[in-house]
Amino acid sequence: MSLLTTPVDIAHIDVMDSRPLIYCQCCRSYEHACQSGATPKMWQQAATYVGWRHVRSEHFDLDVVCPECVAEFHQPVKHRELRKAV
Ligand SMILES: [Zn+2]
Repeated sequence: MSLLTTPVDIAHIDVMDSRPLIYCQCCRSYEHACQSGATPKMWQQAATYVGWRHVRSEHFDLDVVCPECVAEFHQPVKHRELRKAV
């Protein structure tokens, strides 16, 4: 399986309570900016910096994936177990 990872598109940064939010489409965890002054652009850059990615393969296309899930995708056996549990 070939895996293509690219930075998360800014269109997938949400804003809640005037603070930017990023949401993992794989494990459904999310990160909310602590400062109300943070812009979606800043949050997108911060998320990219810590490892959030858009992950694509022949079989799926996840627009937003957290660093933990990106790591799981690179460990196929462990990831299969995770999917079975869901
Ligand atoms: Zn995740």
